[in-house]
Amino acid sequence: ENINKAEQYIAHIRETGVLNRIGGKERPAFGGEFFETISPIDLKPLASVARGDERDIDLAAKAAKAAQPGWTALSGPKRREILHAIANAIEARAEEIAFLECLDTGQSLRFMSKAALRGAENFRYFADKAPAARNGLSLPASGQANVTTRTPVGPVGVITPWNTPFMLSTWKIAPALAAGCTVVHKPAEFSPITASLLLRIAEDAGLPPGVWNLVNGFGEDAGAELTRHPDIKAIAFVGESGTGSLIMKQAADTLKRFHFELGGKNPIVVFADADLERAADAALFMIYSLNGERCTSSSRLLVEASIYERFTATLAERAKNIKVGHPLDPTTVVGPLIHPVHEKKVLEYIEIGKTEGATVAAGGEKFSGPGGGCYVAPTLFTNATNNMRIAQEEIFGPVLTAIPFASEDEAVRLANDTQYGLAAYLWTSDVTRSFRVSEKLDAGMIWVNSENVRHLDTPFGGVKASGIGRDGGDWSFDFYMETKNVSFAT
Ligand code: NAD
Repeated sequence: ENINKAEQYIAHIRETGVLNRIGGKERPAFGGEFFETISPIDLKPLASVARGDERDIDLAAKAAKAAQPGWTALSGPKRREILHAIANAIEARAEEIAFLECLDTGQSLRFMSKAALRGAENFRYFADKAPAARNGLSLPASGQANVTTRTPVGPVGVITPWNTPFMLSTWKIAPALAAGCTVVHKPAEFSPITASLLLRIAEDAGLPPGVWNLVNGFGEDAGAELTRHPDIKAIAFVGESGTGSLIMKQAADTLKRFHFELGGKNPIVVFADADLERAADAALFMIYSLNGERCTSSSRLLVEASIYERFTATLAERAKNIKVGHPLDPTTVVGPLIHPVHEKKVLEYIEIGKTEGATVAAGGEKFSGPGGGCYVAPTLFTNATNNMRIAQEEIFGPVLTAIPFASEDEAVRLANDTQYGLAAYLWTSDVTRSFRVSEKLDAGMIWVNSENVRHLDTPFGGVKASGIGRDGGDWSFDFYMETKNVSFAT
């Protein structure tokens, strides 16, 4: 039944195109232009998508500005009620959303069904935080009493990437709405389908028109215009580090605040004293789940030299047996990569790794999968060094680079020897060492003896070229809200 609904949705957007949605109304772009979104499974067009420009962004920003006072004035409990209604509606349609996400992104159903539910959880979590979002502190001082409060920063621009687009959009938009901000969302051009469904779901669930607006289009026009618009007070951006720099420059004249979740080249450090079976499971999961198209993927494997051969041989055997296939096949782990342009980039990196002298222990080539789309075999490079490009640059695909280390100091040095600092994974049974090494790692998030497990009230974000700011818990509100101090003479 849900697959039927998803097919009906595809039939609907094939007829109308994926439109923008501004002030509660679906509308084509001002210029009347469309671009095609294709399915990475067979490269066939899925739908035409409105190609917004500065006129669409201007209309959306004005709609968000007009809706801001009403949304700010709504009580916290009322905002909580609406956000819970959105979560309920997402849950009710989770399979349909997952199905559409698989077709649009190539991600496998086994992960996308969870990602759709995570979207609902994001709304539920921030719904419950909405009533207290504005609470501040009382700071008494001699002769003065200080009361701090928080107010929504104003309309925010949310710019999202093509990987797990549904879940990531909810991760940014739910806290913005809970804080009392209105939103203009510009989703990624490679995977725009579920963003329009999400907003439709939200408005059907009771979100007032204009509170959340959607403009589709390319980064260099619709995206750039959103970052420049004077009515947009903050930009929440998830994407590449280079795009983050560009956005800062574009937005400089309008003095916006930024929240950036950027790229990563995350190390997984495995010491000889670790539970090696669990470490192997985690290493495989963190690079080959979600097609490796994941900011927190563990793309650099640092293994203690004494176990390097044995550990990487196990991984190679297991990588060769990973099921690559049609994303809707429930047994598939790795589906086709998002787009031929990205597939080409990943395959080029595989060739670079070979030229640099690393050994292909698994994969290392295109995979011939159902539909003939953008499939790449799960790849493991061994005998690599940390100065190789495959160890330094974000490949964003199912490609793991394994490097041996001789000592704890060398492990830390290699782990930190990258421009990025999003996540790190540490495997050891020595508790003291896990504290000592964690202290020294340059990363915003470190998981010890664990893969990436998210708790929504913990801070999420990176250091160095991996980002600015944190999401999760109250950290999200620090970004979406201004802090105001009122000082009374006593
Ligand atoms: P991207 O930077 O190319 O694009 C992201 C978004 O920015 C898209 O919507 C795009 O249209 C828009 N954009 C592009 N140029 C722009 C401009 N000049 N002005 C305004 N907007 C512009 O990234 P991508 O290839 O879509 O996504 C993959 C990247 O995202 C990877 O680097 C990955 O690590 C990163 N990512 C990070 C996190 C995190 O939490 N740190 C999460 C997911 C993805």
